[in-house]
Amino acid sequence: MRSSLCQTFKNNESLQSNIVAKTALITGITGQDGSYLCELLLNKGYDVHGWTRDSKGSGLSSLLRILKRKSRAARFVPSQIQLHQIDNLSSQEVEKFIHKYELDEVYNLAGQSSVAWSFEHPRETFDANFSTVQLLLEAIRTSNASSSIKFFQASTAAIFEASKETPQNEKTIASPLSPYALSKLAAHNLVIKYREDFGMFSCNGILYNHESPRRPNSFVTGKIVEAVARIALGQQCELQLGNIDVARDWGFAGDYVKAMWGMLQNDTPEDFIIATGQLRTLEDFLNIAFRTVGLDWQDYVTVDENIKRPVDPPQLVGDPALIRKKLHWRSMTTFEEMIESMVKQKLNDIRRE
Ligand code: NAP
Repeated sequence: MRSSLCQTFKNNESLQSNIVAKTALITGITGQDGSYLCELLLNKGYDVHGWTRDSKGSGLSSLLRILKRKSRAARFVPSQIQLHQIDNLSSQEVEKFIHKYELDEVYNLAGQSSVAWSFEHPRETFDANFSTVQLLLEAIRTSNASSSIKFFQASTAAIFEASKETPQNEKTIASPLSPYALSKLAAHNLVIKYREDFGMFSCNGILYNHESPRRPNSFVTGKIVEAVARIALGQQCELQLGNIDVARDWGFAGDYVKAMWGMLQNDTPEDFIIATGQLRTLEDFLNIAFRTVGLDWQDYVTVDENIKRPVDPPQLVGDPALIRKKLHWRSMTTFEEMIESMVKQKLNDIRRE
């Protein structure tokens, strides 16, 4: 293990009464989901360890900014969080960490999460999305606490990229097309293997697209939101997009991390679809985003054939019936609320620049 950043926030005030004395590890804590999950667990009284590959990166500073802002707003200070710089492709570093800390829950959210990038960098994608999972599962299996550590893997709806079945559910046959989906499916199957062969509490959340004001603009939704805000502020004239005929099942990241947590509170390890169950088009997204600033998307959006993806599955929509029935989880934030909050936050960010 390399240096432990040990950015520790001590609790100044007494926390809420529903404190649970649990310790969790979140890999990819600087990402969109990592930051929401971190807040959720701190709110529940967890001690949180977070991994990042980079000690000085912008992801880390933005996570710290979010936590500090939230702490002030919510009138509490996170009980304790420690951030560690870890090379998650090093078996020694991963094993040393897992064997050292007494963890109750491990959430593996780190990953190379861009489908487009995966076509240009399939090997790096496979390393990030599969090899790390293998190292984590093996380190847990060989630890003294192998039977008590619960493991969550961020799987993806992209494993159904070529599926003809709509909506998809936990029994739908996987049909990946992109290197991203292939790497995630390999990890997904490994998680099941460790559960079945070694009796570990390891499970996959099959995540459909989810967004938030923390989504970077390397993703199409982040790009749209940024463009809408800049157009509204007179800093940009048009928005060029590739395929706008895609449809997705889009939820809010803050809701989805509650499903992840719920899965690790379940009595038995089980895989679940995490989705809204509603298919919306990119045109719907554009319509709401531009409407939030009083504009019509058709006046600003142009389609550029050159920026189409090699593979763009036309529709992915999940059936969340199982998680609703067994864990009583449902996506609470509407599509409209989510997009409006993304646009408003971006407007504020740009004004503050
Ligand atoms: P994200 O914002 O891209 O964050 C992922 C984090 O993983 C990054 O902050 C980064 O942290 C780390 N990371 C990035 N590239 C990496 C690489 N090559 N190797 C190792 N670590 C890397 O992703 P997210 O939206 O929070 O999603 C969380 C997880 O859910 C990901 O595994 C993603 O594939 C999966 N997922 C997301 C969605 C979605 O719609 N958001 C849908 C399905 C599945 P550091 O730079 O600090 O190390």
